[in-house]
Amino acid sequence: MPHESRMEAGIEIIPLCDAVGPMGAAIRKPLPEMFCGASFPADAEWVLHFHCYLLLAAGRTILVDTGVGGAGSPAASWAPVPGRLVAELAAAGVRPTDVDAVVITHLHSDHAGGCVEDGAPIFPNARHLIQRAELDWVSEPMREQVVAPLGGRVEAVSGDAEPFPGVRLLHTPGHTPGHQCVAVGDLVLSGDVLHHPVQLGDPTITYVYDEDPAEAVRSRKMILARARVLATAHFAEPFTPLSS
Ligand SMILES: [Zn+2]
Ligand SMILES: [Zn+2]
Repeated sequence: MPHESRMEAGIEIIPLCDAVGPMGAAIRKPLPEMFCGASFPADAEWVLHFHCYLLLAAGRTILVDTGVGGAGSPAASWAPVPGRLVAELAAAGVRPTDVDAVVITHLHSDHAGGCVEDGAPIFPNARHLIQRAELDWVSEPMREQVVAPLGGRVEAVSGDAEPFPGVRLLHTPGHTPGHQCVAVGDLVLSGDVLHHPVQLGDPTITYVYDEDPAEAVRSRKMILARARVLATAHFAEPFTPLSS
C-alpha cells in the first residue's frame, strides 16, 4: 500500500488512494478562479488525489467515503475513473462484504460514486451513514444512480453523532448542506471542508464549487481549530499535521 496507516485513540486509520489525476475539462477552471483569494505560480497545476479511509475500531470495519467509482459512475464526466478502492481494500486484507458501515462525507460523485456498481451496492452488509440534510438536497444523477440502489442500507444522520465508540460525525455544512466530517480523537477526516493546501493558511479562501461559501468558511475554521491532524480527501499526502 502506498500510504502508511496511523493509530489514533485506539483506532487504526488506513488511507486508501482511490485515484489520482487532474480535474476533467468539463469543470476545470484556472486555479485562481477555483480558489478565490489565493495566488498561485503561473504554471501551477492541480493534481487531485481521491482518498478514502478505512477505520478499524474495536472489531468494526468502517469505510469513510467510496471514491470515484467505476467507468459508469456519475464521476466519469470529470474524475479519473475507474477508482481503485476495492483493490486498495484488498491490499489491507478487507473484502467488500467485510465492511460494517460506510460513512459518506457528502453525496458528490467523487466521494459516493463507489457505493454502487451496475446498480448494485458494492458493500452489501454495510449501513451507509449520510446526513439527513444531504439526502434532502441530493439531485440527479446521484439520487437515482447511487442513493436509490442502496435502499434500506441508508441510515440518515441528523447533526453530530457518535455511531461507534470513539468515531464522531460532525455536521460541517457549506460545501454541501449535509457535509459531515469524521473525528477520531484529535484527528479529523475532513472530506471536502478543505480542497487545497492554500486553505490551511487562510481558511477564508473559498472553493468555486462550495454550495454556500460563507458557511463553508465557518466549517473550515471550526475543523482547523479542533483538529491536531487532518486526513484529507484531495491533498497529495493523506495526513496533514497542524501546528497549533
Ligand atoms: Zn465535494
Ligand atoms: Zn471531493
